[in-house]
Amino acid sequence: MTHRRTIVAGNWKMNLDRAKARDLAAAVAARAAEAGTTELVLCPPAVYVETVAAALGGSSPVALGAQNMHDHSSGAFTGEVAPPMLLDLGCRYVILGHSERRTLFGETDAVVNAKTRAALAAGLTPIVCVGETLEEREGGRTAAVVTTQVQGSLAGLTPTDLEKIVVAYEPVWAIGTGKVATPLQAQEVHALIRGLLGGLASPAVAAKVRIQYGGSVKPDNAADLAVQPDIDGALVGGASLKADDFLGIAKAFGV
Ligand code: PEP
Repeated sequence: MTHRRTIVAGNWKMNLDRAKARDLAAAVAARAAEAGTTELVLCPPAVYVETVAAALGGSSPVALGAQNMHDHSSGAFTGEVAPPMLLDLGCRYVILGHSERRTLFGETDAVVNAKTRAALAAGLTPIVCVGETLEEREGGRTAAVVTTQVQGSLAGLTPTDLEKIVVAYEPVWAIGTGKVATPLQAQEVHALIRGLLGGLASPAVAAKVRIQYGGSVKPDNAADLAVQPDIDGALVGGASLKADDFLGIAKAFGV
């Protein structure tokens, strides 16, 4: 049993419409108790954050998050969304450095680092994503790649800041592919990440940081991941679009 509160976040990506976003949020909110002790986070497309906030209601136990943000708090950045804007709409979390942002939108570790610092400065909790590609895993480079991403994305954070963040280990080859990492493959990298956090701050700080696994998590594979000592929840893509599946995963991580 971990002393860290488990956290399961739904990354809706660029899916749903306004009515479906509202209905899904309302369904999750109505059944949030099924998640037991697990903290639930919904990350809708930015344009539906307000709709989802309204569907969750003011004192919902379900937290709200965004999928991305800019690192400046205002200015001439056409099309971008600033951290204080997300906070203003009720977001508490923001996913940063998702592999789709890294590969499709050219986000480097330096960019993720700037965004992570900006999120923390604004009072948002970043969910910082890292993970290797299939080619990197097959080339025996998983540890080196994840080490570079963790150290680069979290460079210069104080122990107090590090303690607040969530890290998501998402092997790129497992995202949206139906290929889930085995619990032992995932645990091995989670333990590596916790060790790296220990080096950036201290083992005591690292012991407080929640590390999610992401990559084709479903209700039927969540329980085997949940028993691993360093897996503290899941970042869920496809399965978060169905309340039954999302809550089934959250339940597997809760008590
Ligand atoms: C994700 O995009 O963060 C993700 C884990 O997706 P999926 O669950 O669909 O693999």
